Amino acid sequence: MRLGSHVSIRKGYREAAKTAAAIGGRSFQYFPKNPRGLSIKAFDPRDAEQCAQYCKEQQLISIAHSPYPSNLAAADPALQQAVVASLKNDLHIAEHCGSIGVVVHFGKSKEEDLIKGYRIILDTLNFVLEDWQGEAKLLIENQAGEGTMMGTTFEELVQIRKLAERPEKIGFCLDTCHAFASGLWKGDWGSLEQKGQELGYFTHLHAIHFNDSVYGAGERKDRHAPFGKGRIGKANLLELMTSPLLADLPFILETETGADRTHRAEIQAIQQYLQENREPL
Ligand SMILES: [Zn+2]
Repeated sequence: MRLGSHVSIRKGYREAAKTAAAIGGRSFQYFPKNPRGLSIKAFDPRDAEQCAQYCKEQQLISIAHSPYPSNLAAADPALQQAVVASLKNDLHIAEHCGSIGVVVHFGKSKEEDLIKGYRIILDTLNFVLEDWQGEAKLLIENQAGEGTMMGTTFEELVQIRKLAERPEKIGFCLDTCHAFASGLWKGDWGSLEQKGQELGYFTHLHAIHFNDSVYGAGERKDRHAPFGKGRIGKANLLELMTSPLLADLPFILETETGADRTHRAEIQAIQQYLQENREPL
């Protein structure tokens, strides 16, 4: 299992990768820049390339996460332009760091006409990717249903990818907390897996945000809980994390860090639980 966590880039990209490995991770996620704004970062390409080199040597997989204000459904043209420029910047950084992609939320639209909202999302995706030559993909993340049900179903994710001009540059990131909170996943992983397979979702799934949920299935509230300390529960999470379909994917913890300000303890606890409960092959 390629378990890891979100890590800070306070000391740079290579140091972030080293921290990820030091706490027992086999994968990690980072914010390529300040997560609270859309400003463009003039990053240090040497640091980024050292990160890529280190990850290669250590067989670490990484993903980047776009800043919080990266709303693909932003209707205001100036804001949409800022989102596009910021995501292009994120993709460049991710490419230099050797990451497989940049996670971006599906988007929240204020349009009364939902179709108009989906059109804006498609336009934004097309603008971001029109001249993108790199390997890093945009990884669209399913939402928890807070405020809007937009972006909570496999159908929408698969459709938006298909309708985009460059679907080959788009993949998915599945957040387990959001899937549960939105009511997409009610605990029976087998039936959800079957549905995703029928829709072709898993072919393009590249990462898991591995979070338990403070709130119950269908409550539409996005609050991550540590492994087994939320409403999804260990048994359901075990079923998901041992699915052969997900075996090679990075599993990223986006929960609160422990007393040492890292995810070391949670990574260890999950590995131990997996060892004790995995059915012998
Ligand atoms: Zn997430």
